Amino acid sequence: MNRDTAQALLASWKYERAVDHHCHPLRRWPFQLTALELRSAFTEALDPELAERHVLYSAGYQAALQRIALVLGCEPTEAAVLERRNRDDSERHTRRLLDQPPTEVMLVDAGFSSPESFTLAEQERATGIAQREIIRLETLAEALVKTANDPREWLAATRAALREGINRGAVGVKTICAYRASLKLQPVDTETLGAAFSALRLRAERGQPVRLAGNSLCHAVLFEAAQECQQLDVPLQLHCGFGDPDEDLAETSPLGLRPLFIDPTYRGLRIALLHCYPYHREAAYLCAVFPGAYMDLSLTIPFAGLEGFRAMRETLGLCPTSKLLYASDASRYPEVYFVAASLHREALAEALGELVDRAVLSSDSAVAAGRQVLAENARHIYRLAPTDTG
Ligand SMILES: [Zn+2]
Repeated sequence: MNRDTAQALLASWKYERAVDHHCHPLRRWPFQLTALELRSAFTEALDPELAERHVLYSAGYQAALQRIALVLGCEPTEAAVLERRNRDDSERHTRRLLDQPPTEVMLVDAGFSSPESFTLAEQERATGIAQREIIRLETLAEALVKTANDPREWLAATRAALREGINRGAVGVKTICAYRASLKLQPVDTETLGAAFSALRLRAERGQPVRLAGNSLCHAVLFEAAQECQQLDVPLQLHCGFGDPDEDLAETSPLGLRPLFIDPTYRGLRIALLHCYPYHREAAYLCAVFPGAYMDLSLTIPFAGLEGFRAMRETLGLCPTSKLLYASDASRYPEVYFVAASLHREALAEALGELVDRAVLSSDSAVAAGRQVLAENARHIYRLAPTDTG
């Protein structure tokens, strides 16, 4: 691999402002970051033993420390990074991490937020970066269980709420079906759905937490949302591949989404497959054969270390550069946004650089391909108006 080619590509994108099409809210500053908090931001593990004893020894975390240390001008150790960031002014520290490489707009899934998180308006003011909302489908549908008498009413209310959200300015919808059910989509049996809905509604009436789970409920909502997104002309983001251990990774291959790609009902729907690893090759295949399929490698980069760089090369085997999107999937700490953004560009530069070195692409086409991935594809599929991106 010729490092010069990759470096030249990186330099050509230096001022290219990215569209981060999938991320989460930042934590309100100021705050002091602990070692366990920083480690837990670079792992999907929920068991604290992983952050306590093992994350430090993962390639993904070590690469993150290296990158952060480079910007802060300190030793690439956890202690040095934390000491340096905690004594700096929070706002200045954050801006430094979010400015380079630059981001034009963040599409934010606020489903993963807490009372400590910024609202979108606050985040826009605090970071100086435009923010747009992505609606979290399951959260929305859960809130509507109590007021519906049957599944039909509930699904209609969910669709109406999606329309309302998009009219209010949201630019897409995200589903976390993979965390709640299998992604091997099945036709929904009305009787099973009726029984599952009744059980859920009873919980809502008793004031117990309502959590959408199981194939009949989750697939029914997903099919309806897919139709609504198609009609509203907004993308549906679909988490697939790895995530936290709530999900059964064996059930999260995007290949199970085939009905959404072949049923004429959904013709024209744009689906953005999020994360994808280790099914990025399957996702790339879908992108290569179905017009409505798009994908990203968020989370894979930076969590999977150099495996994320390999995933980028494998993805560009089948996936056209007009179908690959950039996202950080970052949340809470500015360090995560920065590491994801910079490593993503490096992975892209290495993968496209290899195609240049092998005379598959000219340098100019590789530069242009990078621009597609960093911003143009997302602008196109989310229909981001110039005002959104100025
Ligand atoms: Zn996410």
